Amino acid sequence: MTIEGTTEGIDLILRQCRLVGAPDLVDIAISDGRIYAISPRLEVLAAQELAIAGRLVSPPFVESHIHLDSALTAGQPRWNQSGTLFEGIDIWRDRKQSLTLEDVKTRAIATLKQQAQQGVLFVRTHADVSEPNLIALQALLEVRDAVKDWITVQVVAFPQDGIYGSDGNDALLETALKLGADAVGGIPHYEMTREDGVQSVHRIFELAHRYDTLIDIHCDEIDDDQSRFLEVVAASATRSGLGARVTASHTTALASYNNAYAMKLMGLLAKSGINFIANPLINITLQGRTDTYPKRRGVTRVKELWQQGLNVSLGHDCVQDPWYSLGTGNMLTVAAMAVHVCQMTGQAEIDACYDMVTMNGAKTLKVESDYGIAVGRPANLIVLDAETPYDAIRRTATVTQVISRGRLLVETQPSVSTWYGN
Ligand SMILES: [Zn+2]
Repeated sequence: MTIEGTTEGIDLILRQCRLVGAPDLVDIAISDGRIYAISPRLEVLAAQELAIAGRLVSPPFVESHIHLDSALTAGQPRWNQSGTLFEGIDIWRDRKQSLTLEDVKTRAIATLKQQAQQGVLFVRTHADVSEPNLIALQALLEVRDAVKDWITVQVVAFPQDGIYGSDGNDALLETALKLGADAVGGIPHYEMTREDGVQSVHRIFELAHRYDTLIDIHCDEIDDDQSRFLEVVAASATRSGLGARVTASHTTALASYNNAYAMKLMGLLAKSGINFIANPLINITLQGRTDTYPKRRGVTRVKELWQQGLNVSLGHDCVQDPWYSLGTGNMLTVAAMAVHVCQMTGQAEIDACYDMVTMNGAKTLKVESDYGIAVGRPANLIVLDAETPYDAIRRTATVTQVISRGRLLVETQPSVSTWYGN
């Protein structure tokens, strides 16, 4: 293929790219921040040319669930010794007393850079709005704006201590939406009573309707098989018509429900069309802490939700914070953990786990019209030192190049070993 006018305006060309699921290698031309042409051989010159040499070129990773406000605080002011969600919340309550705008912004941007260099270009972060000055929220809104030329950030107003946990939390949540949060969150299983939990879900839907925001609720993140707020979320999504604008994060109790109830619930979930986010790194460590043996895995029914045709994505949730002291922001690590914990080892299942850190996440964030490798789309793509998604997950492949908004943002060399034995 020859492009009329040849080199005029072609900023970047990637030679011999292997697209996910496509048999033949292609060249990709990028102009003015967008994908201009995709063809087996583009006879054009460009200002910059990258030899991809058959490596995998993929849409970028989507981090659909992270807490950037608490990232990089592990051990401050103390380590989580029990490893439970609740000790994590207590530690964070102490740490957040000393938050400043600068503190949150510095850690958030450092984490975003760490993510971007590993191929993440879309991020949904939660911002704790249970703190009277809304420092975390204001900082993350400023960060969202400051980084928008190279990474897309969505901010969820998240009432970590519950909407009804103390006076004023409800008003703080509403203020956060007035300040410009993209989504409203909640934590019904942490409210003081079952009734408060149900009421909190209704309040979240009312606020989403009033401020025209998305919804992303930390829902049933507990091993209690009687924690049943997911049905309330699904019913509310169906009745309100908000459907796919709604996301239920974690839903770990679904893994503990009896099968009779879970099967009934699956029908309701399918009808609602809501999105799910599982966080396998975190929930394999946080859950099951009150069990002896057999010890539950505590990760939601990812395989069964996926088999139902529901949209499931995966999140890292935490990077070095009171709930999880490990983590680097690498989405292939997250996908690999899902493959193991959710027993998704069939070929189609491994591929599905790759979708869960790419296009399914884009669907959850509602950015899918600007996402993907197609002519006319914004040129956001990554190159992996791998041939297939399976290969990428198996080897936690290095993301060698990240192209954001049509520009080369970061390059990383894969590690090289030198063998001196026989
Ligand atoms: Zn979370």
